[in-house]
Amino acid sequence: MSQADIGLIGLGVMGENLALNIADNGYKVAVYNRTADKVDSFLSGAGDLSDNVMGSADLAKFVSMLKRPRSVIIMVKAGGPVDSVIEQLKPLLEKGDVIIDAGNANYHDTVRRFAELDGTGIGFLGIGVSGGEEGARHGPSIMVGGSEDEWHNAEDVLNAIAAKFDGESCCAYLGTGGAGHFVKTIHNGIEYADMQMIAEIYGVMRDGLGMSPAECADVFREWNKGPLDSYLIEISSHVLDAVDEESGKPLLDIIVDQAGQKGTGRWSAIEALNLGVSATTIEGAVAARSISAMKDERIAGEKLYGAAPKGKAKLDLKTLEKALLAGKIAAYAQGFAVMAKASEENGWNLPLDQIAKIWRAGCIIRSRFLDTISQSFASGTAANLLTQPAFVEMMKDSNGALREVVAGCAMAELPTPCLSSALAYFDGYRQANGTTNLTQGQRDFFGAHGFKRYDKEGDFHHSWPSLIEK
Ligand code: NAP
Repeated sequence: MSQADIGLIGLGVMGENLALNIADNGYKVAVYNRTADKVDSFLSGAGDLSDNVMGSADLAKFVSMLKRPRSVIIMVKAGGPVDSVIEQLKPLLEKGDVIIDAGNANYHDTVRRFAELDGTGIGFLGIGVSGGEEGARHGPSIMVGGSEDEWHNAEDVLNAIAAKFDGESCCAYLGTGGAGHFVKTIHNGIEYADMQMIAEIYGVMRDGLGMSPAECADVFREWNKGPLDSYLIEISSHVLDAVDEESGKPLLDIIVDQAGQKGTGRWSAIEALNLGVSATTIEGAVAARSISAMKDERIAGEKLYGAAPKGKAKLDLKTLEKALLAGKIAAYAQGFAVMAKASEENGWNLPLDQIAKIWRAGCIIRSRFLDTISQSFASGTAANLLTQPAFVEMMKDSNGALREVVAGCAMAELPTPCLSSALAYFDGYRQANGTTNLTQGQRDFFGAHGFKRYDKEGDFHHSWPSLIEK
């Protein structure tokens, strides 16, 4: 067989499916995996695609199967395993070859790996891949970071395997260094917020309105025909509809309410905090997963304070739908504001409209909403979504509903960490005269940090009285 167009290391859930996707698109792919059995079972199970797949459990042999200049995708567990694979690959590669880390790397690791490969002549791309198992197999969204020259080495294959929206590939080169992995991190932060707000609205329906999972599923199905139309709303209706075969009960009533997290949502919140950008809805979603993990403490807490009353929310479904839309606008506004700031700080020049475009299909947050975001950023210059005309209109129409839901849930004793932070973000964003004049006064009082005045230019300090009794 002729040599492979591209190599792929790591035949886990994502790697195996990406390799099949590459082969399915007519490219020859060579595979390698640490555990040798997986290489054999992959090759023997490739079926109709077997002409386009090859591989070896010997790394040097795997490398020898690749066309020069070689492109090698690494799709292994994030963190140390990626460093270990790079170290093993380095002596086998040569100037002009490129390593492509396609896992969920912390972008700081990506920046470090660039530096470590600097001077070797071996190129590096950090790419974010979203879409889970199905996306990897049939078309993920791909966010590319690194040098543009090296991107051109792998461009054809990555464009071919990516999802398509109206015929356009959902893969794009976004900027140098860690840009691709940074954007993927923020994608996941937005994903956390989106998922949590949907869960909060489900909570209102379940506990505040006394609806069954099947009734909630019907509502989500209906909403999926309107402005909330998205993959996450669609899968929520399927999850709500599912029945446990063993017990005959709704599956959702059997699933324990403890959410896992692998780190990307948390990284997203950390980056926002480090950049000084308000992303409270993303932070709220991370915190909600953390409190969900404290099941025993929550059980004890309910015993201490009593359970929230059931069926006490005085809210209608139209209001819930609009509230979810308003919350979603705030969360996306935060995520895009974080990317705008990171772009400025890192000199990436991130194309926000292009990012929204490649999220329209393939990835977990795919939705029609992203098409509107893309058009807004393409036509406007303002960085915050809340100032983009299409979203100003939507927010004017829906923020009242968000207010009603947050207030209603507060009175019905239902937690809404994301929806309420979204409302607070919006109210803070549109408040010309805030209250941190008092904060500045306090800071100047105890730390002589100074303050600015409305009536004069410059920095000022007040002579505060000493509170220590003489
Ligand atoms: P997975 O199914 O758990 O597979 C992990 C792969 O990493 C296996 O091939 C494993 O090899 C390899 N590996 C682990 N430690 C290694 C080491 N020290 N040296 C060499 N290889 C090692 O993982 P996955 O879900 O495919 O995820 C892969 C990457 O994609 C991760 O960064 C993940 O965060 C990211 N990602 C996952 C999803 C998703 O939905 N699953 C979506 C987007 C991105 P062995 O077979 O030898 O153990």
